Amino acid sequence: MGLIVHKYGGTSVGTVERIQSVARRVAKWKSAGHQVVVVVSAMSGETNRLIGLAKQIQAEPDARELDVIASTGEQVTIGLLAMALLQLGLKAKSYTGPQVRILTDDAFTKARILSIDESHMRADLDAGTVVVVAGFQGTDDAGNITTLGRGGSDTSAVALAAALKADECLIYTDVDGVYTTDPRVVPEARRLRTVTFEEMLEMASLGSKVLQIRSVEFAGKYKVPLRVLSSMTDPDIPLAEEAASGTLITFEEDQKMEQAIISGIAFNRDEAKITVTGVPDRPGIAYAILGPVSDANIDVDMIIQNTGAQGMTDFSFTVHRGEYQKALEVLNTQVKAHIKASDISGDNRVCKVSMVGVGMRTHAGIAAKMFRTLAEEGINIQMISTSEIKIAVVVDEKYMELAVRALHRAFELEQPN
Ligand code: ASP
Ligand code: MG
Repeated sequence: MGLIVHKYGGTSVGTVERIQSVARRVAKWKSAGHQVVVVVSAMSGETNRLIGLAKQIQAEPDARELDVIASTGEQVTIGLLAMALLQLGLKAKSYTGPQVRILTDDAFTKARILSIDESHMRADLDAGTVVVVAGFQGTDDAGNITTLGRGGSDTSAVALAAALKADECLIYTDVDGVYTTDPRVVPEARRLRTVTFEEMLEMASLGSKVLQIRSVEFAGKYKVPLRVLSSMTDPDIPLAEEAASGTLITFEEDQKMEQAIISGIAFNRDEAKITVTGVPDRPGIAYAILGPVSDANIDVDMIIQNTGAQGMTDFSFTVHRGEYQKALEVLNTQVKAHIKASDISGDNRVCKVSMVGVGMRTHAGIAAKMFRTLAEEGINIQMISTSEIKIAVVVDEKYMELAVRALHRAFELEQPN
């Protein structure tokens, strides 16, 4: 018998009926002898509604007060779920983040968890009580309410699982696991039974929005076994069947049962490319270009600098599409004249397609096969970047779906292995 943390997202607690269904599922785990901590999000749409209210009063809401408001959605769902559990005859108790004493720093709206006092939870669990905790929130040293950033309930759940040394952290959601790619783009996409933390990080940061990326980092760091599974199944299905469903996120690639070379294809439409042409090829140029960009708090992703001809070179990089105009402005006002660049140009109609897989470490020829596949579809590659377990290309966004489908087919990702 173990200690299990369950986490249910907004859709999973979106109505009273769904909350009652969650209670039945939790009761099933409890009656199998497990101690259960349940972390919940606000009902779907609620956090947006609350932030919307705040913005009607202050277009740029005061961050401390915004957290006071945004954290209330979860306070409603913990109370409702605790009641639903009581109605089923279980012992249950709800706690807000500050009540647990989930201590965070004071970075309102994007706070980081510093420590968790598990003493109350431990006492409740030992007394046979189901502990229901509000996700997404904590308190700073001074007692201010803080929130962890959108989607932060995943991180709350993983942090609680780490603090309590839980046997597993089950993230129940409205999809039944992590897929080889987005099934809306490739209907043959297949659910992965396992994926490694590293792969998950690469895929999450590239837009497979199953888990908040910070929760995956956290789980990897504290070695919390994590499973993503569906909350939309009948809550009374056999526990053994449920416990083996979804996608398990594993630590070691040798634990990986599926020996696939490529685990998945991620893609991201929110990209923009900027090129600075005719810059002198000398020390300090990359810094002269990217220093001001970074000072303006703009994140840079891929960077490419060509080898110079006649002492001149071109320099390209990508930014988030939402920061494209700002980046161009910084370059035109602060950089162009300073480094005597001949031109600054850009394209905000590009996307990034990435193939991810720990098997790449031990297999040659993956990049060649990827490039051949894209060539056969007549897709021009504008930029390439690689890591040990990822190859990413930037292409015209109009080819995004075609590229993803062609690669999925070429690497036979629809085939169970
Ligand atoms: N309710 C918060 C949000 O909508 C946190 C979460 O759902 O994880 O971002
Ligand atoms: Mg979520």
